[in-house]
Amino acid sequence: MGGREWSAETKAAQALGWVEETSGAVVMPVHPATTYLRDPDNLYRRGREYARADNPSFDQPEALLAALEQGEDALVFSSGMAAATACFLALRPGDHVVAAEVMYWGLRAWLGGYAREWGLEVDFVDMRDLSALKARLRPGQTRLVWIETPGNPLWHVTDIAEAARLAHDAGARLAVDSTVATPVFTRPLTLGADIVMHSATKYLNGHSDVLAGALIAKAKDEYWQRIETLRVKLGSVIGPFEAFLLTRGMRTLFPRVRTASASAMKIAHAMQKHPKVAEVLYPGLAESPGHEIAAQQMAGGFGGMLSIRVRGGEQAAVAAAARVKLWKRATSLGGVESLIEHRGSIEGAGSPCPQDLLRLSVGIEAADDLIADLSAALAEV
Ligand code: PLP
Repeated sequence: MGGREWSAETKAAQALGWVEETSGAVVMPVHPATTYLRDPDNLYRRGREYARADNPSFDQPEALLAALEQGEDALVFSSGMAAATACFLALRPGDHVVAAEVMYWGLRAWLGGYAREWGLEVDFVDMRDLSALKARLRPGQTRLVWIETPGNPLWHVTDIAEAARLAHDAGARLAVDSTVATPVFTRPLTLGADIVMHSATKYLNGHSDVLAGALIAKAKDEYWQRIETLRVKLGSVIGPFEAFLLTRGMRTLFPRVRTASASAMKIAHAMQKHPKVAEVLYPGLAESPGHEIAAQQMAGGFGGMLSIRVRGGEQAAVAAAARVKLWKRATSLGGVESLIEHRGSIEGAGSPCPQDLLRLSVGIEAADDLIADLSAALAEV
């Protein structure tokens, strides 16, 4: 492109513009092989050995993810949980980590249970208030700080640059679950983070038909090598067909996420006026406590996720979710179809999620249809 650096949007649309050289195909082939030929002298000069280590089908989504997040390297995993847990298992027993109180419940439960049994010391803090993080850091023992912003399902916002500064001052790394922000709105590595994690099952794929995860690193250091080795040894690799679908999904990442985010803002404003809604949780709202920081670190939108608290408590919230016709009552997020979920039914004991909360994952349908459907369902309870 005549020396011009392509924008992230252009890189995504063309999946970096890769063309298969022998045929000229503008879509890269899927490689189902699990094993690769040795050279006659027994070496593997082509660099591939066995599919648990890697597969040519990973190359394009990993290169694209590294480009979108402006990292040195990326790895795709069999799920978001596989990607996230690799970051903790690459530490050593006795290491200390500080994680957000408000984050994807499955990872919080794993950290509070398995990770502690395995030997990590884990503290949870409210990451909206970084003096709480500062107080918990143990210089020389804290190895990893884990944040999710905006954080599930209350959409707490954490100041990435400040969290990175505090983590680094204590000799720790900062990892950011950026599943909800997506590289369309936030690039944590450019703000000082060391690792970005995505449940690629969500916006990156975008069609609710692939389970995948991704990590992107600022630097290919010794810690990153341990993560890479873990993926091989645990076999937490994505399949070649899923890698293909993930790449295809990422080609439309920008228009999907921008549409969802614009609709989420409209829905948030409409829900603020609904008599059955006690509170709308969305960092895009000017009165939201995290709005100012979100506006600084989310360029161009606040994402497609919001929550509403329904007047009348748990029963009313469940009843409203039962009455929608267009929204799908299902877990997960980030697909082209809009989802509604009573989160309290999912998150276990100790969850900070109130029982009157409905989580909304906004898809790419017409916003007015989504507002009409949800408003009618709420009016009936
Ligand atoms: N992080 C966030 C923010 C999520 O919403 C999820 C899944 O719901 C995960 C991580 C885990 O990802 P996966 O379900 O792909 O393992």
